[in-house]
Amino acid sequence: MDTTMRISDRVRAALAKIRSIDTEYHAFVTVCGERALSAAEKLETKIKDLTPAEAQERYPLLGLTFAVKDNLCVEGVRTTAASHILENYISPYSATAVERLEAAGAICLGKTNLDEFAMGQTTSTGAFGATKNPRNAALSAGGSSGGSAAAVALDLVDFALGSDTGGSIRQPAALCGVVGFKPAYGTVSRYGLISYASAFDTIGPLAKSVADARRVYSVFAGPDPKDASMRGPEYFRQQAEAERRDGTDRPIRVGIVGGREGRAARAVLNNTKLDRNVQIEFIELPMLKYAASTYYILACAQAASNLARYDGVRYGLRVEGRTPEQMFENTRLEGFSPEVRRRILLGNFVLSQASYSDWYEHAARVRRMIYDAMQRTFSEVDVIVSETIEEPYPTADFSADSEAFRLGYERDRLTVIANLCGIPAVSVCTGAGADATPEAVMIMADAGREDAMFAVADALTVPFTAAGGHAHE
Ligand code: GLN
Repeated sequence: MDTTMRISDRVRAALAKIRSIDTEYHAFVTVCGERALSAAEKLETKIKDLTPAEAQERYPLLGLTFAVKDNLCVEGVRTTAASHILENYISPYSATAVERLEAAGAICLGKTNLDEFAMGQTTSTGAFGATKNPRNAALSAGGSSGGSAAAVALDLVDFALGSDTGGSIRQPAALCGVVGFKPAYGTVSRYGLISYASAFDTIGPLAKSVADARRVYSVFAGPDPKDASMRGPEYFRQQAEAERRDGTDRPIRVGIVGGREGRAARAVLNNTKLDRNVQIEFIELPMLKYAASTYYILACAQAASNLARYDGVRYGLRVEGRTPEQMFENTRLEGFSPEVRRRILLGNFVLSQASYSDWYEHAARVRRMIYDAMQRTFSEVDVIVSETIEEPYPTADFSADSEAFRLGYERDRLTVIANLCGIPAVSVCTGAGADATPEAVMIMADAGREDAMFAVADALTVPFTAAGGHAHE
């Protein structure tokens, strides 16, 4: 960042760049230029009498620009979750994560595109159209936080917020060639996030480097009384302590998934920055073949209950009917896309009395088995390196029919593990193929071992370059 520029000039330049190129990529659903400029001016007044060092101390993210996935509330700004049902919903408050970033001096430029209610992996199924992959137009931008990933890849913002329920930060980060970090469950408040599957939903950063992701995460992570599922202060103390030690006291044991010829092996074995203290092992991910089905049963069950609130009475769209029941039906039929309706149907099915024990309880038990198996793996290795998504990658011409979605479900199997287990995971870009397709790997660790995860991730990441051939501002 050019630190000699005034904050408001920087914000103006970024807004101009968004105006000039985002019509092509459609990373943003809403740009909040006036709100951003007024925040910049307020900050300039507040730091007027401070020395640069004092200003940086008081506002650790001073003047950094960011974008927010449009399923996170920003006060006074439209929050649509890319759904027709929330098309005109203006949030009266900000998500805790957003509030903490703004309090640290970062400036929100707007809201980014996603798959409707964050259900998907292509950022093409929302009510407002698709986001184009800035690195390879034949590929999908990935999803569901594809707008945030594209905004960072195009250097429209310094970083962005996404949400990850089963891979939605890591997959678009992989396909757009940026860093995407899904924090451990309960380390970031979910207050102000439009719920999809509450037991798996996490908010995290998409950024240009592991250091940036870590830095912004440390600003918005931490206990919040507004989210009852947060970890206690002890967790954060331990994390800070581990970070100070930075894993240098003993070797980091790295488990590689995908065999000796696989992408993870290539990334790790060809890496020269990873010189210190690592022990490499080849492993298999236990229970991987059950991951996607377990995830989809449990995620849809939670989605069905979370989405019950969109009834035409309290929020957003209302389509009238002769009776209240007809009004609910009309509203939900018109407001939700077919895929969202399918997931609600599947969720209500697995929760219904006749199938609860066969489906929901069964999946809950398998989830526990996956968790236990992963814990055993983490007694042997500190971090696991794998691909982020297996090929073939989702393409730009993804059609939102049920068969295309169904095929995509299985492609989530690597990423959903971290959500099923509540552990941290980060996807980083390790290079690019001949057709500019980003290459990515994912690094997972047990909750509390973020230090080891970040150390390996940082060594594997290639330096960021902006996509799209647009001059770096
Ligand atoms: N692709 C997965 C799904 O559709 C994950 C989405 C997410 O992480 N929000 O459920």
